Formats: sequence, C-alpha cells, structure tokens
Amino acid sequence: MPELPEIEAWRRALDEPVSASPILKAGPAHVATLKTFDPPLAVLEGRKLAGAERRAKRLLFPTEDGELVVLVHLMTAGRLKFLRSGEPGPKAPAFRLVFQDGSQLVLTEAGSKKRAGVWLLTPEEAEVELAHLGPDALHLGAERLGEILASESRRLHSLLRDQRVIAGIGRAWANEILHHAQLSPFALSRELEPDEVERLALAIDAELTRGLELRERGANDKRTYRVHNKLGEPCYLCGTPLARVDYEEHTVYYCPQCQTGGRVLKDRRLSRLLR
Ligand SMILES: [Zn+2]
Repeated sequence: MPELPEIEAWRRALDEPVSASPILKAGPAHVATLKTFDPPLAVLEGRKLAGAERRAKRLLFPTEDGELVVLVHLMTAGRLKFLRSGEPGPKAPAFRLVFQDGSQLVLTEAGSKKRAGVWLLTPEEAEVELAHLGPDALHLGAERLGEILASESRRLHSLLRDQRVIAGIGRAWANEILHHAQLSPFALSRELEPDEVERLALAIDAELTRGLELRERGANDKRTYRVHNKLGEPCYLCGTPLARVDYEEHTVYYCPQCQTGGRVLKDRRLSRLLR
C-alpha cells in the first residue's frame, strides 16, 4: 500500500495540473469505487479544483468555490494518473474527471477487487470522514511523539502503523523507520528512554523525507527501500543479513545486530501460538 511518501509525491505532481482547467465531465465511476451518491458527480461540472491536498494516505481535491471536496483513498492497488489532452488512457477507469482543456484525471485499480474509494463531500463531511486520523507523521517532533508513546503501551511497529495514533505510516516505512532509529519492532512504547524517543522522531522525518525525495524522482520499491522486503540482504549499516519475523498480520523486516542486540525475534502470529 502506498504510504505518506508515495501519496505526498503524487499530491505534489497533481496539485498544479488538476487546477489548470475547469471540470467538463465528472464520471463515470465504478459502482464499487464511488462511495457517495448525493450530490451526484455531475455537480462538479463547470467547477474548478483548487489543487491537491493530502491527509494521511488520502488525497483531497477541494473545489475552488469551497463547496465540495473529492476525497480519494487509493488503498493497495489504486493509482491516479493525470493525462494531458490527447494522451491515451485506460478504457474503463474506476473513476474519471475530464477537464475543459481535454486533460483527464483517471483512477485505475489493478486486479478485480475494487477497494479504492472516491467520495464527493462537503468540507464539513470530509472533516468528519477524516476525524479518526491521528496527527500527520511528517514533522511530528519528539515532544508530540513522546506524548503519543506514553499514552498507551504498544509494540513500536504496531503503534507506528496505527492511523488513529500517527497518520501516514504503513508496514514498509515502519520497517525503514525502526531500522534507522535502531529500535526493536517489538520494543514497548512506554519503555523508551528520552534519547530513544528523540532518535525515533528524527528517524520518522529522515526516512519519510528520504522516501518522498526518491518517489518524486520516480524511484521504484527496490531502490527506495533499504530494509523492507530485503530478507537476507546485508544491513546497510553493519552488513548483518536482514531478518524477518511474522507479527500480527504483517511481516516485519529488521537487522538483528542494529535493532535487537543480536537477538532473533520469534514469530508472534496467532496461528503459530495455536499450533
Ligand atoms: Zn545492521
């Protein structure tokens, strides 16, 4: 699933083009993709978008008149593409906006399962829709992070991925961040020393910024990640082969030298416990 760096890179790329020309035609949208039916998409026609905004892993396209917001959640496989006038696009996108200058914004989704969503809301409704999200992960700062960590006792990998607590990080960037901070994915949030909280705050910003810069230049996963999905590859700091452990429904990657003091973590997947 795309996380904060990926979504923010797309937001930056879309901000200008989507606001260049008023909307000529809104839709059609796949029945599973469009999550709202009132007002109909046609109310967007003739209006101009103000640009692209991001909240956690979602993209928002407010209209210039301040009356409506198109909210997009791409989930795992959804992708937004801006097509210049005349540029060929998909035949049946999950959602489409055609602009008066002939350009288009299209949402496609690989695979048969339609999980990505589009909502047409008022700004107030959008606020309600996003109210459950915690503060954005980028530029959170050590003080705020310290308060969050102290508020409940959680394993770090799980806490970082919880959108209600900190918004924007998923499993890939949690792996990268915890490695950068040299902290165990299973460390308990309340047991961190002040210097470790500081390190984690710096690692969050450093890794998300690194990811954003790479994604803006079009880097693929292999080039972007240094720990995630790199089982057995040498740690970029110490050369130890990176390890993997199953945790909840996720696979966590880590360096047994840099993060867990030479300890290999045991699987904590429920199925293993029941065996
Ligand atoms: Zn290492």
